[in-house]
Amino acid sequence: MTLGVKRFLAECVWRGAVATGLMRWTEWRHRHVPLALCYHGVTDRQRPGDLPSLHVTCDEFNAQLAYLTKRYWVVPLLQFVRAVRDGTAWGARLATVTFDDGYENWVSEALPLLKRYGVEASFFVTTDALDAGGCLNLEHRVEMKVLYGPWEAVSLEAGEVRWDLQRADYPGAVRAWRCIQSRLWAVADRPARFALYRAIDEQLPSTAVPEEECGRFTPLTWEGAEHLVREGMYVGSHGATHRPMQAEPQDELLRQLARSKEAIVRRLGVAPDEVVLAYPYGDVGRAVWGAARQAGFLAALEVGSIFEPFPWDPYAIPRLGVGRGTSMPALRAGIGGLWHVLRRMKVWAGRWRRRGGSASATAAPACGSERPRPSSRAPGGAP
Ligand SMILES: [Zn+2]
Repeated sequence: MTLGVKRFLAECVWRGAVATGLMRWTEWRHRHVPLALCYHGVTDRQRPGDLPSLHVTCDEFNAQLAYLTKRYWVVPLLQFVRAVRDGTAWGARLATVTFDDGYENWVSEALPLLKRYGVEASFFVTTDALDAGGCLNLEHRVEMKVLYGPWEAVSLEAGEVRWDLQRADYPGAVRAWRCIQSRLWAVADRPARFALYRAIDEQLPSTAVPEEECGRFTPLTWEGAEHLVREGMYVGSHGATHRPMQAEPQDELLRQLARSKEAIVRRLGVAPDEVVLAYPYGDVGRAVWGAARQAGFLAALEVGSIFEPFPWDPYAIPRLGVGRGTSMPALRAGIGGLWHVLRRMKVWAGRWRRRGGSASATAAPACGSERPRPSSRAPGGAP
């Protein structure tokens, strides 16, 4: 079943749930859950035929902010974190808006909309990338190289994966990227997937970001981050390197965390005891939670199910990811719990079919994670 068909069917389910009142019932059932949303960027510039993007459109973001500010107390991150830590977040209808990675469109597109709704959002930057003058993260660098760079063939060996990619096998650069990206996403183990990205990056010549891609890919600079702080936004750490933290040796990870925290304090004037970390790639596992605590961060954010039992560990505060193509009914299904309920029913049905056996359809923990993370994105958002 294609992604378009899946989305159409899901949309029918969400709209049916709105019409029958089921959506309102699940929202009422989960009304006590505090809500942290994870965005990446806001831009209307998309390539025709592109795969689902992490960047939402301006209209989508506008509609989502209107909904959130009407239904929730949308508070700054530090207020949200303190309420989670002291247990007052539950039942208070609190929400907070965050962004990961570091794009120029945070300043040009997201900021005016945030100010229109009076929302103080949080932006998490990869500090080594900003030190390098604002550079693309690995995945986007690879995407640019595959799409626009001169290349004929790539040989990959990482773990058990052996690929020989020939450009001639793909009719057109966009088609080549879609095929390669699909294969990369199919590698569930994040460090292994990261190794594949790195292998492609090392083999392909560098290329500049073409003008038509600037809206999506122009990276943020320290000047942009300083501007966000001046405008009342919070800027925290998304790590130093954007490598999967669970794959780093502990001493190297602690060095990276200390370097990133120090850069946030020095460049942006954030108080040392108020620096919050957002882990690259979402969930990372208990060893990394401990490293974040040891490095002196106030708290740390994952991307995972917001319906985890209370209380949350302040170094594993879950956020719901939102990507392009998330309609309002889909967003309501994600934050109101309908998506979560349907996924649990699917797991129960799988267990029932196996007559109480040990198999659990979605219970395989994500790489390095200590617990299952069944729902990390609003349904309809980017994968
Ligand atoms: Zn990231």
